[in-house]
Amino acid sequence: METNETRKTLLEVKDLRTYFKTDAGVVKAVDGISFKLSQGETLGIVGESGSGKSVTNLSIMRLIQSPPGKIVGGEILFEGDDILKVPESELRSIRGNKISMIFQDPMTSLNPFLKISTQMVETILLHQDMSKKEALKKSIDMLKLVGIPAAEERIHSYPHQFSGGMRQRVMIAMALSCEAKILIADEPTTALDVTIQAQILELIQELAQKLDTAVILITHDLGVVAGLCDTVCVMYAGKIVEKANTDELYARPSHPYTDGLIKSVPRLDKAQNGKLFSIEGQPPNVIDLPPCCPFHPRCSRKMEICTKQYPPVVDLGKGHEVACWLYAENKENSTDE
Ligand code: SF4
Repeated sequence: METNETRKTLLEVKDLRTYFKTDAGVVKAVDGISFKLSQGETLGIVGESGSGKSVTNLSIMRLIQSPPGKIVGGEILFEGDDILKVPESELRSIRGNKISMIFQDPMTSLNPFLKISTQMVETILLHQDMSKKEALKKSIDMLKLVGIPAAEERIHSYPHQFSGGMRQRVMIAMALSCEAKILIADEPTTALDVTIQAQILELIQELAQKLDTAVILITHDLGVVAGLCDTVCVMYAGKIVEKANTDELYARPSHPYTDGLIKSVPRLDKAQNGKLFSIEGQPPNVIDLPPCCPFHPRCSRKMEICTKQYPPVVDLGKGHEVACWLYAENKENSTDE
């Protein structure tokens, strides 16, 4: 059986930095993150609003609006080639064709004035060499695959004639219709009610396995990640603070922020004494952050050094990494620097 270690690396993000220039200062939305994604792997990127998770994925798609945003450093290697060096004219062959994205609200991506058939066929023809008739057949097949009943008739409907959950299914069908190798799903179920959320997440997982597509799932909810992702990156203030395979992360959450996120997930199998845990305080303003641990004002385990220096990344083994002074060997020596 292929494991993540033996599978081919599709995407490698190295020291990515995406900054935004504002009147108040420079927002370091993504500040030096690195991770890998293998074929067929599902990677969760988790964090609160403003942690940099969506900017990470917009950077991968080269969709950062400039100005005010700019990718100021790093590499994004897709099958070995740096996406950041690909000329704008060639980006279309990557977006949609090799890397697809589905957003929170399908109504922002679907054109309300065009039938689903028109939108799906156009997308397929843009990226694949086939006739209109073949593209229509493929579109119907994709709608069937994502569970749209009576797909032959429904394909000629407009987006508003579908429910929220069905629209998200249509978006998934469109995103996967060009056989993209990577699907980026940015909070794909936030706008849906709870029962539909579970169905959509199951659908993404099922299709990813069937089509051997790698998935990057962006979410603020570590509960969503548990049953779906192979690996997890936890982001805080533009940096990855903990990275591990999902089972390892749940068994040994090491960063106090990850620990807080896991404790905030409602559990049916554990008594909560009527009160759900929440991490105190607010995420920091990422404009001109001081060079210390940005989580320290909210951390119950902070030490003096945490308020002075950014923690080193410590390898805990089995691919588990954490950026926290609690695990650094040289913390006493470093305090005086
Ligand atoms: Fe808490 Fe210090 Fe670790 Fe930051 S580095 S999470 S403040 S213990």
